[in-house]
Amino acid sequence: MSYTLINPTTEEAMETIPALDIDQVDAAIERARVAQREWAGLNPADRASLLRRFADAVDADRENLAQLEVRNSGHPIGNARWEAEHVRNVLEYYAATPERMFGRQIPVAGGLDVTFQEPLGVVGVITPWNFPMTIASWGFAPALASGNAVVLKPAEWTPLTSLRLAELGLDSGLPEGLFQVLTGKGSVVGNRFVTNLTVRKVVFTGSTEVGKQIMSGCADQVKRVTLELGGKSANIVFADADVEKAALTAPSSVFDNSGQDCCARSRILVQRSVFDDFMQHFEKAVGALTVGDPTQSTTDMGPLVSRQHHDAVSAYVDAKTPVAFRGSAPDGPGFWFAPTILTPESRTDRCMTEEIFGPVVAVVPFDDEADAVALANATEFGLSGSIWTRDIARALRVARGVESGNLSVNSHSSVRYNTPFGGFKQSGLGRELGPDAHLAFTETKNVFIPTTEKD
Ligand code: NAP
Ligand code: MG
Repeated sequence: MSYTLINPTTEEAMETIPALDIDQVDAAIERARVAQREWAGLNPADRASLLRRFADAVDADRENLAQLEVRNSGHPIGNARWEAEHVRNVLEYYAATPERMFGRQIPVAGGLDVTFQEPLGVVGVITPWNFPMTIASWGFAPALASGNAVVLKPAEWTPLTSLRLAELGLDSGLPEGLFQVLTGKGSVVGNRFVTNLTVRKVVFTGSTEVGKQIMSGCADQVKRVTLELGGKSANIVFADADVEKAALTAPSSVFDNSGQDCCARSRILVQRSVFDDFMQHFEKAVGALTVGDPTQSTTDMGPLVSRQHHDAVSAYVDAKTPVAFRGSAPDGPGFWFAPTILTPESRTDRCMTEEIFGPVVAVVPFDDEADAVALANATEFGLSGSIWTRDIARALRVARGVESGNLSVNSHSSVRYNTPFGGFKQSGLGRELGPDAHLAFTETKNVFIPTTEKD
């Protein structure tokens, strides 16, 4: 079985991709199990060196990976180049892990007590279509670095960069079968990672709905799970902030990747006294966005990923919710959607509570600090957010008060390979990236050796 990819910019048919069945998935998992033994048996310096070679191969292939993402996902080339470089950085960062898999020596009576971080075995990584290669690397790089094998199931719509990364891994000298990309349906390939006993952990990034199914499925085998799910993050602008700067940077915080970003600040909360001022600057900034051909380095925003997703996003712009203004979008073929600014009358309007995952943002006023924090927290999600204020004490109070995993003050940054990333509440479980991520791919083993007759 197979299916055909569609270029979201041109709507032209592209590559045909195999849709694997359960037997093929099981065979791949068995190959991964064998390869993992070999990999874990190598000396740590050799594993580190192979991962560095993998990072170098990605480095040499950055432009090709970026161009693949432009074709497959419609990401603007500037974004796609950053993504390819990020994958290289993630690999390079975790290449230091094999030689630093330290255990502990714990003082106990009568002997030596030490801990080891043992690999889990085979890890299944399931990725979404919005950031195919970066999110894949957050799973496979630390998992491989801790001595595991990885089977990766990319989203059906966007497998090309993942397939290329597996080729680069093999070319770099990773054992055959250690890192395999298995294409096909989530309900078949992804679900098999949940039910196959050899897979000891599932790392899932995607919708909260499917994440809950994965978590309950994994419970059956007490299988380890990391979940990175949806978001409905708040960008909070206080009256004492640099309101103009907050407004001019707001488009990138929600329209980057056409809003198909789990960290999108899709609710902008503005203190009432500066609301109009903010909206004026914001309108100017949205008007200045270049929406169009993703192959051009001057493009800020490309198309949505698919016709189906375009339909889903469109459903949020209806007659019921006031539209303050919209940006531009090309006509003709391609899944284009103009940046759209909604000003809902009710704080419980669905544009305030549901993740739209497109270039649609809701802007609402708030009264004071307590109101802002309560409104920011009035969601089942808790992934990211931004706080704009010149009062450093307020910035810290609000940062501690917002129930979210990744916050930035007077900026919109959220993902760095060297800092932890993940969600509160229904935005996820566990953390990826940063200095500790590799530990989530290990079990802690405690060993006691007596040094006296009596223990
Ligand atoms: P999705 O529908 O949940 O799919 C994610 C992945 O899971 C895809 O590979 C999908 O395969 C697979 N899948 C679907 N059903 C499955 C099942 N029953 N068992 C196992 N795997 C299954 O999510 P999406 O629509 O691709 O992505 C959008 C969502 O991802 C948004 O909610 C967004 O917030 C979230 N996201 C979160 C983060 C984060 O780090 N927190 C990052 C990016 C995206 P198919 O392609 O075959 O459907
Ligand atoms: Mg889906």
